[in-house]
Amino acid sequence: MKKQLIAGNWKMNGSLQSNAALVSALAAGVSNARCQVAVCVPAPYLAQVQSRVAGTRIDLGAQDVSQHEAGAYTGEVSATMLREFATRYCLVGHSERRQYHGEADATVAVKAQRVLAAGITPIVCVGETLAEREAGRTEEVVKRQLAAVIHANGHCISEVVVAYEPVWAIGTGKTASPEQAQQVHAVLRAQLHAATEHSDRMLILYGGSMNAANAAQLLSQPDIDGGLVGGASLKAADFLTIIAAAR
Ligand code: PEP
Repeated sequence: MKKQLIAGNWKMNGSLQSNAALVSALAAGVSNARCQVAVCVPAPYLAQVQSRVAGTRIDLGAQDVSQHEAGAYTGEVSATMLREFATRYCLVGHSERRQYHGEADATVAVKAQRVLAAGITPIVCVGETLAEREAGRTEEVVKRQLAAVIHANGHCISEVVVAYEPVWAIGTGKTASPEQAQQVHAVLRAQLHAATEHSDRMLILYGGSMNAANAAQLLSQPDIDGGLVGGASLKAADFLTIIAAAR
């Protein structure tokens, strides 16, 4: 049976001191976890967290990557640079990147390509806004976002992790109900099924105010293969409770 993945997204939070305390507490608590565990950290902390997770059950992740390979792109971080820090995962197309940095579907698709070429697993985020949900456009939006990545990556799509993150649920305390999430996950699974014979072994995570209280119900849905966790991943006890609820 495939193992679920619980990935923390620290967003723009942390310090050398608080990261050390958080990772030690997590490392001590994850030794018996049934699922896979990762933390996606701000780029300046990759080296610190790389050394602190070495030899533990925790994998390292990044939060974004440049769409370019190398060159005159001041401020950008390339996929090959991420790889040098033993980065296992990289978030791509998080709604905060789409919303505040104007990332279009085509850019997200190229970023996924760059990450795969560097031997890193992209966690491709898709999700609808509240207005899109209320207009009955959820399915159309998530399928369009995922289609761009499928189109650009061909058979390599089976190496991608997908995260369904309804924008209205991120950082708002409003979680999609397990039924609402499962419904969209089933749509995404069917879309992946049409693209690759390996869709059953692919992971589709749910993200959006997942917390210690609601994780077990969400993670028990048939097409929910793990969680992408923002706020609750910054508190060791809460993140460990979510990890314990995963299989
Ligand atoms: C996220 O940042 O991907 C996320 C899901 O955040 P939160 O859990 O805080 O809603």
